[in-house]
Amino acid sequence: MPISRFPRTPLAHLPTPLEPLDRLSEALGGPGGGPRIWVKRDDCTGLATGGNKTRKLEFLMGDALARGCDTVLTAGGLQSNHARQTAAAAAKLGLRCELFLETVPGTPDTDYDRNANVLLDRLVGAEAHVFEHGGPLLQAMADRAEELAGQGASPYAIPVGGSNGVGALGYVDCALETERQATELGVRFAQVFVASGSAGTQAGLLAGLALAGSTARVIGVNVSTDSAEQSAKVSAVLHECLELLDGAKTDVGDIVCDDGYFHPSYGVPNDGTLEAVRLLAETEALLLDPVYTGKAMAGLIDYIRQGRIPAGEDILFLHTGGQVALFAYESLL
Ligand SMILES: *Cc1c(COP(=O)(O)O)cnc(C)c1O
Repeated sequence: MPISRFPRTPLAHLPTPLEPLDRLSEALGGPGGGPRIWVKRDDCTGLATGGNKTRKLEFLMGDALARGCDTVLTAGGLQSNHARQTAAAAAKLGLRCELFLETVPGTPDTDYDRNANVLLDRLVGAEAHVFEHGGPLLQAMADRAEELAGQGASPYAIPVGGSNGVGALGYVDCALETERQATELGVRFAQVFVASGSAGTQAGLLAGLALAGSTARVIGVNVSTDSAEQSAKVSAVLHECLELLDGAKTDVGDIVCDDGYFHPSYGVPNDGTLEAVRLLAETEALLLDPVYTGKAMAGLIDYIRQGRIPAGEDILFLHTGGQVALFAYESLL
């Protein structure tokens, strides 16, 4: 069915701004001039410091409310932006929230386990269950959902990152919104760069751009895994989302996932990540994060330096948020 018919609850400040990054474009352009870089400010969705999960949660929480649920559960890393936005959405809607969080190897000893997203989870009243990395997080969440149901509650379990077909509808909507803004500005984006983790954002964008008839190429910059695994993840969510929209036959073109920028591992920034975070702060006062957007922007910067993007092209960077995590990484910055 069409996207307008799915249950949806308003949580985000929309539309988010679409702005040129002229000082960055100039800094990267060199003598021959480079591409013109734009940013879609989904860091400004507004929910307890915002980010990309808020758009997904409009549909996921809409579904939870339509089913009469009273408790939401979700899982992620200790500094999960998704967990924090889910906890915030639950607070705003008057639902209970339980989080299943795991430690992330290689992250800073100071602040990571208590500041930033962890602090905000606590402030908005979520209950957190914390596990060591590799622990039985998802099993614990499933068991707890069953236990709650047995006690007469009505639980709603949201997958890691809110990445299923329903959550991805948020990025179908973002793609349509971006196309409208681009038309108003008289811009046609040749490429869109986005951090790709649990894959719902890239999947929704691909579906939405295809449905809008856009020819923009989406470059997913992996944050946690190699390209074969990441494109399989994107493909699975993409097909689930297109099914929901009765668009299973839609031609979305290639799924591009680049694994050149996430090393050494999820949640651990490399030199390129930190350079991107600093460059964007210094040229545009735009705050990136060390886990997702810093890695995606490092990819975009490297593509430009390698001459892989023609001068004069309009390139969109989708800012998916996460800046609050900077406060967990003070020791590296
Ligand atoms: C979750 C997240 C992403 C990745 O989105 P997915 O839909 O999980 O691929 C990117 N940036 C930030 C800041 C995030 O929190």
